[in-house]
Amino acid sequence: MSERKDLVGLSREELAAEMADIGEKPFRAKQLWHWIYNQGVTDFQAMTTLARPLREKLAERYVVRRPETSRVQTSVDGTRKWLLRFADGNEAETVYIPEDDRGAVCVSSQVGCTLTCRFCHTGTQLLVRNLTAAEIVGQFMTARDSYEEWPSPSDGGRLISNIVLMGMGEPLFNYDNVSKALKIIMDGEGIAVSKRRITLSTSGVVPMIRRCGEELGVNLAVSLHATTDEIRDRIMPINKKYPLAELMAALRDYPTNNARRITFEYIMLKGINDSAADARRLVKLVEGIPAKFNLIPFNKWPGSEFECSDMRDIKRFSDMLFDAGYSAPVRQSRGSDILAACGQLKSDSERIRCSRQKARLEDGIPDEHQQPAPAA
Ligand code: SAH
Ligand code: SF4
Repeated sequence: MSERKDLVGLSREELAAEMADIGEKPFRAKQLWHWIYNQGVTDFQAMTTLARPLREKLAERYVVRRPETSRVQTSVDGTRKWLLRFADGNEAETVYIPEDDRGAVCVSSQVGCTLTCRFCHTGTQLLVRNLTAAEIVGQFMTARDSYEEWPSPSDGGRLISNIVLMGMGEPLFNYDNVSKALKIIMDGEGIAVSKRRITLSTSGVVPMIRRCGEELGVNLAVSLHATTDEIRDRIMPINKKYPLAELMAALRDYPTNNARRITFEYIMLKGINDSAADARRLVKLVEGIPAKFNLIPFNKWPGSEFECSDMRDIKRFSDMLFDAGYSAPVRQSRGSDILAACGQLKSDSERIRCSRQKARLEDGIPDEHQQPAPAA
């Protein structure tokens, strides 16, 4: 028998087409959707609204798969990290960050990242490939399994209320799969997380920002980290392709309002981007954009070349933004004891096989249309 097909990650239309292919009525797709994404069921035998012969027919042809969990670690602060292994042996990390009465699942969009931001551990990973829609949705479903949060809560979430695309990879370099996954996740009859509770973080892939706003309408976070092209070029190679002026112009067009601001993420790097002059330039830079800031103390990882700014300088920076009328909290570093904090994620996939990928990307800037090399 040929390998059974995974139903996770198919759009509603694709699921309906599968049912048509096996001679079933379209409403079967609706029932399946409910079982898979609302109830979180992976075993066809538990899908009790389907007659037994149909359940058997489905089980012969299909599976409802989760990525395999290679390792789970829980931090002293409650942050939980899963190392997930996909069918081809590649791995990526997913993190759950609890807050008082809710929490966010931080999802990866790629194995590794083709960009090479100097402060980011993920950027040092050699093997890179895009995750499929099934693998992206599967990360979130694994977190729900782990906290037993099925069926999908109708109030938008108990423990797991939010999703942030802030794990490994650049989501806007994997737009098609990310967008397909988010449409599945947002579907009101399934997982049903609303776009207001989803935040996509990008390093600034200018041509894709507009599409993201028009087609997905999720909250946008931008990894800014510098206030001059000179510094940003040095620490984030993507800036050479899409410099600050172009990035800011794209952000001015992003659908926002006062309640839905763009979050600017800003890592505090000692002596690099943390001066009073930087804070003043930052305020000027975002003029006209409904903005809020997230100041991220730099998280160290083995071999990293930067130091985190002194607390005194972070405080001054935050106060200056606040005085200019912006919210600028200093983000608490969560899960750093298990290397689950921002910028610390990295899987061991590169050991499976190190491709020539990075050599080809010597200047660190992949063309936006270039797909990462397929995993070997
Ligand atoms: N590629 C996207 C999504 C990843 S989000 C992006 O860069 O936005 C990961 C966030 O953690 C980004 O804001 C990134 O800049 C930040 N980050 C990376 N390395 C970090 C480090 N060592 N300490 C703190 N934050 C880091
Ligand atoms: Fe990639 Fe984001 Fe890390 Fe830069 S910060 S290397 S874009 S994951």
